[in-house]
Amino acid sequence: MTAARLRPFGASVFSTMTALAIEHRAINLAQGFPDFDGPDELLDAAAAAMGAGHNQYARSAGHPRLAGAIADRVAHDYGLQYEALTEVAVTSGATEGIAAAMLGLLEPGDEVVLFEPFYDSYPAAVAMAGGIVRPCTLRFPDFALDEAELAKCFTPRTRAVLLNTPHNPTGKVFSRDELTAIARLCEAHDAFVVSDEVYEHLTYDGVAHVPIATLPGMRDRTLTLSSLGKTYSLTGWKTGWATGPAHLVAGLQAAHQFLTFCSATPFQQAAAVALDTLRDDFVVALRADYTERRDLLVGALREVGFDVAVPQGTYFVLADFRRAWQGGDDHAFARHLTTNVGVACIPPSVFYAVDVDEGRRLARFAFCKRMATLEGAAGRLKAGLGR
Ligand code: PMP
Ligand code: GLN
Repeated sequence: MTAARLRPFGASVFSTMTALAIEHRAINLAQGFPDFDGPDELLDAAAAAMGAGHNQYARSAGHPRLAGAIADRVAHDYGLQYEALTEVAVTSGATEGIAAAMLGLLEPGDEVVLFEPFYDSYPAAVAMAGGIVRPCTLRFPDFALDEAELAKCFTPRTRAVLLNTPHNPTGKVFSRDELTAIARLCEAHDAFVVSDEVYEHLTYDGVAHVPIATLPGMRDRTLTLSSLGKTYSLTGWKTGWATGPAHLVAGLQAAHQFLTFCSATPFQQAAAVALDTLRDDFVVALRADYTERRDLLVGALREVGFDVAVPQGTYFVLADFRRAWQGGDDHAFARHLTTNVGVACIPPSVFYAVDVDEGRRLARFAFCKRMATLEGAAGRLKAGLGR
């Protein structure tokens, strides 16, 4: 009975791999969620908000306290100025923000340029809005942007670019030069950008995240999305936001008001506490913790023969498994690893629409896990794949 426009997408790979991991008691390095809790002060803030009666619908575009905290935080972090009541909208996670942006800003037949491998909700959100995706392939192992290839994805029907930096699943952080190339093409084709920056604070080795909205001329054609999930290890709270010029925020909000009307009120209160109080020192510590986790996992994968693209951002790593295992493609490998080795990963070919073969030799592992979990996974990899 599923509508034709959604039929090609099937079940999300995150649901299927997590179910397989549970069935086989595998260590779940597939779906990207932390196996540790968010900061105590935020758990307390959410409980306090419920106790204080913040339990009814909030303002549709977001509780004014949170909208103010978002505007203030973005100004603090990047020097970007947004007016809290017209240029900020709160969404139920960035995933809803992506869908609301597509539903609220695209006309049927509009084309959206995006980068593959992509977060799986992108093509589905574009399809729900009646749009058409034009994927530009980023290639293992450095995932560098090929400006000439990108230019070929633009046509007279191009309406938007759906960008993600730091980028899931590659761990790539787009450089200022790459973003400048994207901005140039957007200006030439009068396209807007939806920039998914949920991993904005997860960058390593001194690499800086550059919001495309900070580039000259881009503030007024960029809708930036982020959320609480990754920075504060609270993926289940599904609290996200959009910032941008009023005309783009209004389009997203036009859809958001009829998708959910508003996002969960007590979590909005706790989100304001997070953005106001857990800032620079918190982010420094977060990056240090994640650098340690990344290094452990990268080392473990290399030890059993993977070719690893060391991520400069996000909490994912893509690795070519073919020197470690020769039994088939990425789906066969992910199934083998989950059922026989006891470590679950994601088969990334599902994140490609054009050059699917790029993904068939790769596996994606998440390192948003306790060091003990990653050590356990390292032990199983060595026992199951070690030579
Ligand atoms: N965008 C990207 C690139 C992601 O990896 C994720 C994580 N699942 C999301 C959006 C979703 O964010 P949220 O949980 O806030 O919906
Ligand atoms: N973003 C997370 C990942 O890439 C999970 C997303 C989801 O479960 N929908 O693993």
